[in-house]
Amino acid sequence: MTNRTGNLAAPTDERRCTAHKKGPNGEKGERCQAWALKGQTVCRVHGGKAPQNLAAARRRQTEERALELVETYGRPVDTTPSDALLDEVKWTAGHVAWLRQRVQEIEAQDAEAGRTDPDADEDEEQTSGPGSERPHPLVWGVTRRKTGGDDWGRTEEAAPNIWLRLYQQERAHLVKVCEAAIRAGIEERKVRVAEQQGALVAQVIRAILADLRLTKEQQARVPEVVPRHLRALAS
Ligand SMILES: [Zn+2]
Repeated sequence: MTNRTGNLAAPTDERRCTAHKKGPNGEKGERCQAWALKGQTVCRVHGGKAPQNLAAARRRQTEERALELVETYGRPVDTTPSDALLDEVKWTAGHVAWLRQRVQEIEAQDAEAGRTDPDADEDEEQTSGPGSERPHPLVWGVTRRKTGGDDWGRTEEAAPNIWLRLYQQERAHLVKVCEAAIRAGIEERKVRVAEQQGALVAQVIRAILADLRLTKEQQARVPEVVPRHLRALAS
């Protein structure tokens, strides 16, 4: 298949809409070339505003942010391989402990809310009707809120909570580094000690954050700030 494209950008320019204009007889015309919406491959005219596409774009963006966060948990430099592995075990254990607490918090909040949702009026079959349970917030949540315009309201969808996802990623990573450390000949006892040290640090950070009673805005910065300082500590 050949595409006739304009001079604005190469067809591989991933920030341009990939849809094609319709010719006078409804046949496939030249490529659109308008800017694609954020996280999408199409512009607003070519379906970028469709709810499912917006939702997919948000999911992709969340995924990218999560990935960045995990990568933020940098690796120690200027060290021996075994020290690096032990350090990695230590800090990963800290991240896991810290993330586990976030996940547990969500569960606790959910239990506290009595699994009732006062503004669940827009929800359909998943939440209404006798005997139906509200989906658990770890796997279901508000992914969008909008207060103005025709499409005001909020969007809820099935998606693993960001904390749950980070927690699972870190757990998998911890298992890997522990295995690598033991395989590398670092005795199991040392690996365990490193693990406990990391978890202890996470516990302290958690306690401090709780006592500070952070505002929502401050809390939102925690996933960026805490790993950054842990990384600084590790190096
Ligand atoms: Zn377009």
